[in-house]
Amino acid sequence: MMNVIDRHESEVRGYVRNFPVVFDRAEGSYLYDADEHRYLDFFSGAGALNYGHNHPRLKTHLLDYIERDGITHGLDLATRAKAEFMQRFHEVILEPRGLDYRLQFPGPTGTNAVEAALKLARKVTGRDKIMSFTNAFHGMTLGALAVTGNAFKRSGAGITLTLSDTMPFYNYFGDDTDTLDYIDRLLTDNGSGMDLPAAAIIETVQAEGGINVASAEWLQGLAALCERHGILLIVDDIQAGCGRTGSFFSFEEAGIKPDIVCLSKSLSGYGLPLALTLIKPEHDQWEPGEHNGTFRGNNHAFVTATAALGFWENGDFEAQVATRSRMLREHLETLVARYPKAFTEVRGRGMMLGLACHDSALPRALSAAAFARGLLHETAGPDDEVAKYMPALTISEEQLREGLKIIDGSVEAVLGRPDAYAIAV
Ligand SMILES: *Cc1c(COP(=O)(O)O)cnc(C)c1O
Repeated sequence: MMNVIDRHESEVRGYVRNFPVVFDRAEGSYLYDADEHRYLDFFSGAGALNYGHNHPRLKTHLLDYIERDGITHGLDLATRAKAEFMQRFHEVILEPRGLDYRLQFPGPTGTNAVEAALKLARKVTGRDKIMSFTNAFHGMTLGALAVTGNAFKRSGAGITLTLSDTMPFYNYFGDDTDTLDYIDRLLTDNGSGMDLPAAAIIETVQAEGGINVASAEWLQGLAALCERHGILLIVDDIQAGCGRTGSFFSFEEAGIKPDIVCLSKSLSGYGLPLALTLIKPEHDQWEPGEHNGTFRGNNHAFVTATAALGFWENGDFEAQVATRSRMLREHLETLVARYPKAFTEVRGRGMMLGLACHDSALPRALSAAAFARGLLHETAGPDDEVAKYMPALTISEEQLREGLKIIDGSVEAVLGRPDAYAIAV
């Protein structure tokens, strides 16, 4: 079966090269290939499977909906599935957090949520530049790519990407430089050559960019800076949101209220495509149909997304994620302590954690060794210098332990025993 893919699928294929087996079915934290080999999933569809694969409660709702011939496709017509989702999203997510947003459903991919946000910010402010950040990742369409940092991804555009100014992310120059001072100076100084942007777009934890965490204070400072200069603040919570960093929105810890928020990946909770751009009511200046899409509002995704909101009805799930996160982080810390010449630090928040490596060839080797032992995990960073661990938020303690053993085994297989490695280097 892999022959078919090798022969007929475009060279652009990516992840399949790192995990070259034919997957057939999946349940919770496990994937199974066509030969029934089992793999623990610490990849989680790059953040699209926060509640694991085929969660039984979500599946039941979806099967019932399909069985009763609920609307599948409806453009942006009013459907019961959509109304129920919107009602519950207000009750369970927005109101308890003191947030007030209008909901825009763009096309169902993350990059579409970003395009909608950028367009709207330009329309609202009448300005065209966007402030982006080093190592940001916002998607593959031209607008989103223009605010993405990665040189390889940018070069794929084939045109000059314009109308963005890249600013240094939190800690880009190390502990001694507050990058907000730098940005503020450029915005304030009439000689800086920097135009006032329409918006700043930021990931609170940069996922693809190497699991770089912006501190809560820095995010508060950025929000204040944006407010001072009349710049809209867009938080791209496509990967860090929906619980990945421990709370539903990644910016809750900082207590900021962005003007626009982008969600997608785990919003449906089931791996079904769904994207959402949240807009402060005063910025909702769209004309009817000014941004549209054939697959706005995927009703099957609404059904599972509504069921997934059940995880957020009280604090139990968040508390469980915090416990699992601590376990994973503490274990990765022990690896850093045991292999100080290989690993620099543990990065991340919640269940988006990474091992930063001195040698950028190491994460890929660790991922290959883990895969050979039955565990999927990704790498991240501009040079792939971070081994990225993202188990499902629903993973059991026992499954997490099983994964940690495999990670230990892979580290030892690649680096040797800690004492031997220390001597060898
Ligand atoms: C994945 C991702 C996107 C793009 O989403 P697609 O569905 O792949 O278009 C945008 N921003 C962030 C932070 C992402 O992780």
